[in-house]
Amino acid sequence: MSTLEIRDLHVAVEDKPILRGVDLTVRAGETHAIMGPNGSGKSTLAYAVAGHPKYTVTGGQVLLDGEDLLEMSVDERARAGLFLAMQYPVEVPGVSVSNFLRSAVTAVRGEAPKLREFSKELRSKMDDLHIDPSFAQRNLNEGFSGGEKKRHEILQLELLKPKIAVLDETDSGLDVDALRVVSEGINRFRSGDTGVLLITHYTRILRYVKPDFVHVFAGGRIVEEGGPELAERLESEGYERYVKATA
Ligand code: ADP
Ligand code: MG
Ligand code: MG
Repeated sequence: MSTLEIRDLHVAVEDKPILRGVDLTVRAGETHAIMGPNGSGKSTLAYAVAGHPKYTVTGGQVLLDGEDLLEMSVDERARAGLFLAMQYPVEVPGVSVSNFLRSAVTAVRGEAPKLREFSKELRSKMDDLHIDPSFAQRNLNEGFSGGEKKRHEILQLELLKPKIAVLDETDSGLDVDALRVVSEGINRFRSGDTGVLLITHYTRILRYVKPDFVHVFAGGRIVEEGGPELAERLESEGYERYVKATA
C-alpha cells in the first residue's frame, strides 16, 4: 500500500514564495480533492511534486513510500509510481498518441511491451473510454479538444497504473458527456490501489467522483479540511470567505 506524504512544503517561483507550508498525506485507495480560488497555488503544488524546474522547493519534504521524491528526476518520479496530469499538456508534432503511450509505458515498466500486446491493450482501454480507434494515430495533443485531452489523460492512467495520481483541473473544458466518461475512468482506477489527488477549482466533477477528503487551498496553504460535505458547502457558498481571510 502506497503513501504520498507532503510535509511542510514551501515553494517559490522566481523568488516569490507561493506555497507556504503544505501538509498532506494521500494513501492508496483514497481520493483527495484540493479546491480553492484561482491563484491560490493549487497548480504550483502539482508542478512542484512533478519536479518542474521553474518551481523551487524552499522547504519541506515530499515522500513516496518513504523515498524522497524531491531528489528524483522527473523520469524517476514516474518510475516510482507517480503520475501527473497537467492543466496544459504539450503538443508534440510528429509523435503519435500510440508511440507516446508506448514510450511512457516502457519508461514506467522498465521494458518495452511487445507491440502486438500493447496495441491490443491500448485498443481495449480506448474502447472503455469511448475513444475512436483513429485517435491512436493522431499527433500528440495536436488540435485535441478539451474532452480529447482529458480522455487521453485517463488513458495514460489506465495504462501506467500509477501508485499515486495527481490530476490538475481535470474537469476544465469538459462537456457533460466527456465529464461523465472521464469521471467513470477515475472511479474505475481509484477503486483499486491508486491514491488520487484531484485538484480543481470547480465542484462539478465532485458530483461524479466522490472524494474521501476535501482540502481547501487559499494563499498557498490548506486552510480547511473535511469530507465530501465540504465540497457541497463550497458549491453553495463559494470561496469568498477564504479569500477574505488570507487577503
Ligand atoms: P491555482 O492553480 O490555484 O490557480 P497557481 O499555482 O497557478 O494557482 O498560481 C499561484 C500563484 O503563483 C499565482 O500568483 C501565480 O501568478 C503564481 N505563479 C504560478 N506559476 C507561475 C509561473 N510559472 N511564473 C510566475 N508566476 C507563477
Ligand atoms: Mg490558475
Ligand atoms: Mg491551477
